[in-house]
Amino acid sequence: MQLIRAHWAVENRLHWRRDVTLGEDRCGVRFPPVAQMLAVLNTVVLSLMDFHRVANVARQIRHFASHPDEALDWALDFCDRGGNTSVQSQMVNSRRTCSKEKEQGEPMRKKKRYAQAVKRIMRPEITHCLECQRKLQRCVTISDRMIIPLKQVIRLVHCGYRCPHPDCSGRKTLYRSAEADALALAGLTFGWDIVLFVGQRRLREHQTVDEIHQSLLEQLTPLDQTISRREILFLFEASSALLRAGTEVTHDEGGKEQVRKNKGIVLSIDGIQKD
Ligand SMILES: [Zn+2]
Repeated sequence: MQLIRAHWAVENRLHWRRDVTLGEDRCGVRFPPVAQMLAVLNTVVLSLMDFHRVANVARQIRHFASHPDEALDWALDFCDRGGNTSVQSQMVNSRRTCSKEKEQGEPMRKKKRYAQAVKRIMRPEITHCLECQRKLQRCVTISDRMIIPLKQVIRLVHCGYRCPHPDCSGRKTLYRSAEADALALAGLTFGWDIVLFVGQRRLREHQTVDEIHQSLLEQLTPLDQTISRREILFLFEASSALLRAGTEVTHDEGGKEQVRKNKGIVLSIDGIQKD
């Protein structure tokens, strides 16, 4: 039993992470020295993940894609505790210099900036309880987060409302703002328009990921924002999932019939799985 468990632990912890999460199976490199070097780098990445007890490597990699400074901190922390090759000590030294600068009050490196963010407080469009018609009351902040559409950076405070009457049958219904939900997918900082922009550029204009990356960077520069190449890939996946869902709806006769009965109103669309 233990042997079997140990075998699957190796499969899951090592092989799956290497082959799928780090993409070794998809990797087209055939020149042995380069393949060997990539394998060593992947091993270093996985060791770092284990060192920091990361449960979900894929999620951590996505996080680092938008916070590269944190990834560097991890690597430097590892060097601090471990070896002292010339490159490592150089990195550690430069980090110490940075820390000194920080202590002296000078900025170490540019932090994520949202100086241009416009604060928007959004409340449900429905103001009265659908069951008892009483005025709804604010009960929770559903989210307080930054959203980056193409035109402006928004700090969105999304307020949830409920019916205040304890005996109302609709008391448990949480009312949300449809407009706030329409700004961005749950879990994504970039707005819907950027998701669609990436999908269109890729599928309609056949641009490469690098071309899309470049043109998005140019558009985001006035907003003082950046986007990583990996985030473009993630956004393309999101737009493809939407496209697939849309195609399924087109061929769903039962669903279309229901929409006709509802006089054109689609009552709900399921979201995209985050992981
Ligand atoms: Zn009510």
